[in-house]
Amino acid sequence: MTREKGSICVGIDLGGTSVQVGLVTLEGKLVVCEQFPTLVERGHEAIIDEMAQRAVQLWEKEGFSADSIRGVGVGSPGPLDPETGIVLVTPNLKWENVPLKAMLVDRLSMQVAVDNDAVSATFGEWWVGAGKPYRDVVGLTLGTGVGGGIVLNGHIHHGFQGIGGHIGHMVIKAEGRLCPCGNKGCLEAYASGTAIAERTHEALAGDEATVLRRLDQPLTARTVYEAALKGDPLAHRIFDRTAFYLAVGINNILNILNPQAVVIMGAVANAGELLFHPLLSHLEKMAFARIYQETQILQGRLGEKAGVVGAAGLIARPLDGMMG
Ligand SMILES: [Zn+2]
Repeated sequence: MTREKGSICVGIDLGGTSVQVGLVTLEGKLVVCEQFPTLVERGHEAIIDEMAQRAVQLWEKEGFSADSIRGVGVGSPGPLDPETGIVLVTPNLKWENVPLKAMLVDRLSMQVAVDNDAVSATFGEWWVGAGKPYRDVVGLTLGTGVGGGIVLNGHIHHGFQGIGGHIGHMVIKAEGRLCPCGNKGCLEAYASGTAIAERTHEALAGDEATVLRRLDQPLTARTVYEAALKGDPLAHRIFDRTAFYLAVGINNILNILNPQAVVIMGAVANAGELLFHPLLSHLEKMAFARIYQETQILQGRLGEKAGVVGAAGLIARPLDGMMG
């Protein structure tokens, strides 16, 4: 392992329930990664203090000097301004106008880059993951919510205010289900893990046969997934409809941006074939044949480490990360 000056980047993935901190080489190899809980009730100062402390502890434990660290990249819930590094508002963390970048620079005295968590994850998959062979990659993270990121011509596309790529809030059904953002019919209101659980819960009011009515644990996207694997018809239908809504959203992306690849990440993507098989068959019916035939619809390869690797990539590949 090289100990040269500026040879290691710190990647931090800040989430509503946990924070991951990792050390990543300039080539995108994850050296080590640790996780600690996000103590939201302690407020932003304490959380940012702990992020800085844990980063220092981690590189010291691994035998790196501060000199060998090139900088710190953070993927944070947003919306945020990647240029100023100010997190505008995050309902999960209860933050408002928090100068995350400045506060970390203050504590660590090194360069810090901040971007949206889903953008960081997409950047990670583009850099060294499933999207590596491609120049234009759109990423979707299906978890508690639905996040998005756009890499075009090898650069993150931020839009003029830095808040572009919020694919989860693309309306896929006018006047549809209520989204946590307040609008109706967003992709997030159909394809997030939360939405899968809610839609299943509503379906239980009908008379469709399912084992999910007799569940002795809370209904989550995971329990629906497990029931579907065992052949439960209702659980299967929920996943098929989720794949349908996802296909509507992805088809819009394909028509607007014509990217080479769409990478699907997050816990819901772990459903694998259960999601991807119906997704491709719905998409085949919707998309222009030429687009469908040549566009890659891929499952992310970095798993839950995509955010950490991508955040470190903001430091390792600053020109790709900050342009556009
Ligand atoms: Zn929304």
